[in-house]
Amino acid sequence: MTDDLRFQDWIDRAKTVDIRSAAERLGARLKKAGAAELQGPCPKCGGTDRFSIHTGKHVFNCRGGGGGGVVDMAMHVLDCNFVAACEFLTNEAPPDRASEYRAPDPEIIRERKEERRDEQTERARQESGKLAENIRKATDLFNRAAPVIGTLAEDYLTDWRGIPATAFEHADLRFMNEFPYMGADPENPEGRIELGRFPCMLAAMRNPAGQITGIKRTYLGRDGRKLKTPDGGSAKLGLYTMAGGIIHLMPIGETLALGEGVETTLGWLMLAREGMFGPDLREATVAGADSLNNLASPYLEFPGQVRRLIYLVDGDSNPVMTRQTILKGAEANRALGLDVSFSCAPTDPVHFKTMGRDWNDVWLECARVAA
Ligand SMILES: [Zn+2]
Repeated sequence: MTDDLRFQDWIDRAKTVDIRSAAERLGARLKKAGAAELQGPCPKCGGTDRFSIHTGKHVFNCRGGGGGGVVDMAMHVLDCNFVAACEFLTNEAPPDRASEYRAPDPEIIRERKEERRDEQTERARQESGKLAENIRKATDLFNRAAPVIGTLAEDYLTDWRGIPATAFEHADLRFMNEFPYMGADPENPEGRIELGRFPCMLAAMRNPAGQITGIKRTYLGRDGRKLKTPDGGSAKLGLYTMAGGIIHLMPIGETLALGEGVETTLGWLMLAREGMFGPDLREATVAGADSLNNLASPYLEFPGQVRRLIYLVDGDSNPVMTRQTILKGAEANRALGLDVSFSCAPTDPVHFKTMGRDWNDVWLECARVAA
């Protein structure tokens, strides 16, 4: 082999070093975030989840710090040139050339680690303080609201969404007759002011420990329909910490169908109870994740009894993007051993915004046809 060939062969060996073990040697402590994806703090830049590797594609990414193959990863973390990175990866000096790799000064590594630990402790302290405060506020708000039975919220579900309150357990839904609706302040573009007080359905977002971390508000008009808001903004809004929780619509069983909104999830439940999805899903239990991002999150945790997870996919948003988004969470849960599947509402592939339907629309149509 000539010198050049030996050098090229050495580079090729560096490029094909297993990315996971290389990341570990570089000091990364990563957790599973998908079937072939691992995520965690960057050994160089810190953070909590900015650094990820894909073991199938053999690539890394550091949010804000770049990405690429295994050699790029070593260059990023060690802050060194290409040859030095290859030396680190192969554990060999370049053939017939001078070594360029300098082991990082242990003193610098120690300092960097300490700085990062201080930063992380401080951030974790602030985050947990904020979360604790949100749990207090959300729980207090929820406790001040009334049960939905006999309120406009019950009318809304029954009359406009086709879901009688007897069809599910609604302990985590409540009602307030007058809840402030905030909107843009015409006097001050930065500020927000109260634009009115309206009836409001409140749904509790609970974390895996059962604590209420956030509240999903659905503002209602006096006729029991979804409110036409004074500024044209959404009548459905989250409050406090919404990510990482789910809305419990009944005790969760072995089969869990997870939808986005309360209405679409309950629409699917009604269809399932009718036997629309076959006999084995008649007894399925349901919960709402509120948003697509939360639904799709690989970090969302489910109670231990869940063996079968069905993602409810609405048909009123871009079908390809929606499924792409959910895939990450689906892969992560499949990797945990859950039986994962999708139940997709009919989609119009072109006019999905206006012609596509969510599971509540489908239920209402079926109920109308049957009547
Ligand atoms: Zn980084």
